[in-house]
Amino acid sequence: MPNLKDATRAADSAWQEDVRAGVRHVRDLASLPLSPAEREAAQAAAALHKVRAPKAYLDLIDWNDPADPIRAQVIPSPGELDEAEGELGDPIADHEFSPVPRLTHRHADRVLLFPTYQCAVYCRFCFRKESLTSIGRGYTREALEPALAYISDHPEIREVILTGGDPLSLPDKALAEIRARIEDIAHVRLLRLHTRVPVALPSRITPGLVAALQGRLMVTVVTHFNHAREITDATEVACRALRQAGFVMLNQSVLLKGVNDTVEALEELCRELMYRLGIKPYYLHHGDLARGMAHRRTTIAQGQALVEALRARLSGICNPVYVLDLPDGGGKVPLGPCHVEEQDGQRWRIRGLDGQVRTYREIVGE
Ligand SMILES: *Cc1c(COP(=O)(O)O)cnc(C)c1O
Ligand code: SF4
Repeated sequence: MPNLKDATRAADSAWQEDVRAGVRHVRDLASLPLSPAEREAAQAAAALHKVRAPKAYLDLIDWNDPADPIRAQVIPSPGELDEAEGELGDPIADHEFSPVPRLTHRHADRVLLFPTYQCAVYCRFCFRKESLTSIGRGYTREALEPALAYISDHPEIREVILTGGDPLSLPDKALAEIRARIEDIAHVRLLRLHTRVPVALPSRITPGLVAALQGRLMVTVVTHFNHAREITDATEVACRALRQAGFVMLNQSVLLKGVNDTVEALEELCRELMYRLGIKPYYLHHGDLARGMAHRRTTIAQGQALVEALRARLSGICNPVYVLDLPDGGGKVPLGPCHVEEQDGQRWRIRGLDGQVRTYREIVGE
């Protein structure tokens, strides 16, 4: 009978092979059938944001399609080299709201904690790409001490959000250690992980990883699927393991031109997330002002039209909230759909899901 240790070792060697056989460095791109323009942009783009993608994720690319939505997310493109006026190195003001290293505290009850600035996959559109490149460091116990002390000293903090970097790119032992340290802080109620590992490296979701996250705290895993083509048998197995562990599963997507900026693409993504993976679509982010990303941004009006159409097509639980993270630290603000046309005292003019505007009269007791 295979013992647990052997099973753990086999599970670990599967994902390690997936990483080894993928793109780990810009020079590994040479073996892929890139277009001449992609090849030419690769070195310069990699200097601005690292290049990495596990084999399982690269295998989803249809190389005959220059506009393939998976390719667009991980292969450096010439557009990244065009910096538009007004784009920002720190688009949502992580640094301005960072009282100690590796922590951002903008909303009273929750903090972002950065256990690592490394990821299993580097997404070309990442709003944190400049921190990942300039800070770049991985996890050490010492590096997190000031942040953990800060959380201990702030009883208003109830949620700790592990982000980065990708927290699930860490070894099981590091995850268990971080989880245990946070658990020791009595006022913390919920541990959240923002991760792209279930999407890009689903083999990493092993029994050992799941066990490392289980303890006193409510755990929420917020995945980052952007396209229905990322939802495969392997991601289904990974997400089922996380759900069966009792973790609450949510997804955030980024609205990206040429990847998911059609009603059909978003509709299929949201349905498959909920119906196949059991993951509730949480946020659809408007493309932020990361440098070199103008070629992937839609207008806000386009985003609003998309989510209004989604609202009419999808069930309530399948609908994400469309948000803009304001660059000066104003938080994630919902951008619609807004169905209120006008208000005159108790008389409201409200557009129904069928597009017709109706009058609604409020009746409220004294
Ligand atoms: C996005 C974000 C959060 C989490 O916000 P929710 O709306 O709760 O998902 C918390 N802190 C910061 C600084 C953030 O950018
Ligand atoms: S996994 Fe997340 S943090 Fe890492 S590059 Fe992609 S979007 Fe950025």
